[in-house]
Amino acid sequence: MVNQGKLSNELVTQKALALGFDLIGFAKSEELKEEVERLENWLRERYNGTMSYMERNLEKRLNVKEILPEAKSVISLALNYYTDEAYSNKAGSGKVSRYAFGTDYHYILWDKLEKLITELKEIDPNFSAKSYVDTGPVMDKAWAIHSGLGWMGKHSNIITKEFGSWIFLSTIITNYEFSNYGNVLGDFCGTCTRCIDACPTSAITESYIVNANKCISFLTIENKEEIPNELSGSFENWLFGCDICQDVCPWNKKFSKRTNEPGFFVKNSNKEINLDEIMEMDNIEFKMRFKDSPIMRAKLKGLKRNASFLRAGTDRTILNKTGKNK
Ligand code: SF4
Repeated sequence: MVNQGKLSNELVTQKALALGFDLIGFAKSEELKEEVERLENWLRERYNGTMSYMERNLEKRLNVKEILPEAKSVISLALNYYTDEAYSNKAGSGKVSRYAFGTDYHYILWDKLEKLITELKEIDPNFSAKSYVDTGPVMDKAWAIHSGLGWMGKHSNIITKEFGSWIFLSTIITNYEFSNYGNVLGDFCGTCTRCIDACPTSAITESYIVNANKCISFLTIENKEEIPNELSGSFENWLFGCDICQDVCPWNKKFSKRTNEPGFFVKNSNKEINLDEIMEMDNIEFKMRFKDSPIMRAKLKGLKRNASFLRAGTDRTILNKTGKNK
């Protein structure tokens, strides 16, 4: 049954924008054969580090009907999180990735998605949907491309012409069919390789391929093991996450706009963290300071590991400069 009922592209878009989403696109729920093939090649190289969940549920990533059997369309939504705050270069402090300056985006996006789906169901009770914010076996980036929101940069983030790559993505799989679907934009990176050249750990092994085992973001957030010693001294003071590849991107220089979402503004001075403070912090303090922040993800143990790693790297840099470690 074709569900081109009461919910048109225009109405869904209007509702999404009213809830604060910045971009919305629609795609047909086709199989993502090429994307899953690329994912399999990436997994074969073990570039997923310890993210073993990436190896599971490939059939769901390939075909959203494995998640919602009546799926006909996928709606891709983006929320701009850019704040025009400069990163801290204070001595004795570590830098935090811009995405973690404020409240954890999952809470903000889950809330908006829930409201959107409720409103759409009120208009048409036949509307059925499953939604995700990078927590399930759904290829958010692939759907953002298919729905025409943006293209994949060589650093593997999605770049939009409206906000650059400073966006969070969320995805709704639905039984609804729409009359208009987005067009794939194409690739606007051209001959640029700034992100590849700027990465201090050479984590972008080739265009569009990131080796998580070397990526500062992965190593300081998701990784639960020790950070490899050979990377010591190359983290450029990033304590939680890293934005180097996005900061150097000319599209971000051109398209960045300040977010309208107050939840993403800096909270509890979390754009920088004093390394001594972390080393002395106990779990109670950690939970109080980072409540509702993405920094909770690393846990206190991970944050202390990162702080020690930065200190060791800083020491090594100083010793190298004075020649004392020769
Ligand atoms: S820095 Fe250059 S190559 Fe990298 S994503 Fe931006 S435009 Fe593409």
